[in-house]
Amino acid sequence: MSLRIVVTVKYVPDATGDRHFADDLTVDRDDVDGLLSELDEYAVEQALQISENSDDDVEITVLTVGPEDAKDALRKALSMGADKAIHVEDDDIHGTDAIGTSLVLAKAIEKAGYDLVISGMASTDGTMGVVPALLAERLGVPQVTLLSEVSVEDGTVKGRRDGDAASENLEASLPAVVSVTDQSGEARYPSFKGIMAAKKKPVESWDLSDLDIEAEEVGLEGAYTTVDNAAERPARTAGTIVKDEGEGGKQLAEFLAGQKFI
Ligand SMILES: Cc1cc2nc3c(=O)[nH]c(=O)nc-3n(C[C@H](O)[C@H](O)[C@H](O)COP(=O)(O)OP(=O)(O)OC[C@H]3O[C@@H](n4cnc5c(N)ncnc54)[C@H](O)[C@@H]3O)c2cc1C
Repeated sequence: MSLRIVVTVKYVPDATGDRHFADDLTVDRDDVDGLLSELDEYAVEQALQISENSDDDVEITVLTVGPEDAKDALRKALSMGADKAIHVEDDDIHGTDAIGTSLVLAKAIEKAGYDLVISGMASTDGTMGVVPALLAERLGVPQVTLLSEVSVEDGTVKGRRDGDAASENLEASLPAVVSVTDQSGEARYPSFKGIMAAKKKPVESWDLSDLDIEAEEVGLEGAYTTVDNAAERPARTAGTIVKDEGEGGKQLAEFLAGQKFI
């Protein structure tokens, strides 16, 4: 038997860098350093562990929808151990919202062929946490989301979802979509050998026409959400130091009473 896993990985602006909006109020993805979303490293790790624990032939494909530089995210996932990569890039994707992104990802997953899709719990830039559910709906398969443990056995994906009050053991028959949390297990660092091997692994590039998607279905034109306004956070002002000489608590209460809270 063989198992085809597609891991969706997003290339996100580096949170430690200077991030800003472009003139059209979309996130500027061209002039900022980016990287593989940290939360998607956990998804790659879980795919690798499923492969290592399986007697079946497992093929791991990493898939991203993003600009030219998004190839860096694919290279990182390949150097961790994934087998091949697909990059969907098209100028008309600029401005696409979560619903449009899920359309592009779903069409690419269908074209690639899959038994299991593994996503992160959220991206580290958009952080909506909706794409895995949107994918399951579009693909018409079960979703088992927010797993902190995941395994595959006899055509079934099993996992544990940890909540505040209880842990649930969930399972679904394949094909299915799962998302994994940052509690699912530390993601491995690429080894030198892995980095060298990644250079030779195949990376396919597809555009919208390869996926039979019309430009109007995605981009700002096809988006269901609009950003009306964005302003830079005001610079921090100097803090107030309360020196406690017996009346620190009172001074603190008076200071807080004079503040405006949202
Ligand atoms: C070039 C470009 C321009 C964009 N412009 C806009 C815009 O102007 N306005 C807007 O609202 N959105 C835009 N998007 C889409 C946006 O950045 C998100 O990808 C999308 O809205 C999904 O929301 P999220 O990141 O919160 O995903 P979440 O639902 O938080 O992500 C969950 C998981 O889904 C997967 N995933 C999400 N996005 C991708 C992806 N692109 N590729 C592969 N896997 C993914 C990952 O596994 C991730 O862990 C743009 C995307 C691209 C690539």
